[in-house]
Amino acid sequence: MSNHESWLERCGRLGLNWLGQDCALCGAGSGHELVCAACAQALPELPAHCPRCALPTPLGSVCGSCLANPPQFDATLALWLYEFPCDRLVQALKYRAWLGLAPFFARCLVSRCFPPADVIVPMPLHPDRLAQRGFNQALEIARGLARRTGAPLEPRGAQRVRNTIPQTELPYEERAKNIRGAFFARVDFSGKTVAVVDDVMTTGATLDELARILKRAGAARVENLVVARSVLR
Ligand SMILES: [Zn+2]
Ligand SMILES: [Zn+2]
Repeated sequence: MSNHESWLERCGRLGLNWLGQDCALCGAGSGHELVCAACAQALPELPAHCPRCALPTPLGSVCGSCLANPPQFDATLALWLYEFPCDRLVQALKYRAWLGLAPFFARCLVSRCFPPADVIVPMPLHPDRLAQRGFNQALEIARGLARRTGAPLEPRGAQRVRNTIPQTELPYEERAKNIRGAFFARVDFSGKTVAVVDDVMTTGATLDELARILKRAGAARVENLVVARSVLR
């Protein structure tokens, strides 16, 4: 049996145990966290990357794409590469409702965070998708961030007003068009630094569109805080 299979089996077992005494990745005792310190240390680090979009670049310089066509957001903090086993953790939260992972992600984000933002906004889900899934994984992570930093959370600061084809089902070049007009800001963000929380960043099209709406609602600065950065190799 491969490591991968045995890990998924372990997922199922631990899904019944929200207090998670065993590490999700290695099965060793992990205290109150779902990932033990050794496995957390071994998650795939993001190499030197563009400070704006978190795409790997030599020496961490701003990438060509951000220079040529600056996105609406100002900075991105990504914890890990969206690769095994980080991808399994992110999927366990989103698709297996392993909500105990959200505080772990939040704690890791806080440990590397920019100075606390004025307000935290989770990437909104469309109400239909929310009804299907029962929770918004970005909101679960954002709650932990708000608790730990003291920054106010605006769970409904931005709303998804248009249900789009899931970005993962579209080629990269069609994603920006697909997401255009999907959000609506319900709060005045005038002069504020807004931290947007999401689980995975791929092309950045969804985060860019949300940042556009937040800036239109007055935000002075938008910073993305994401668990994982997907990078084509
Ligand atoms: Zn472990
Ligand atoms: Zn960039």
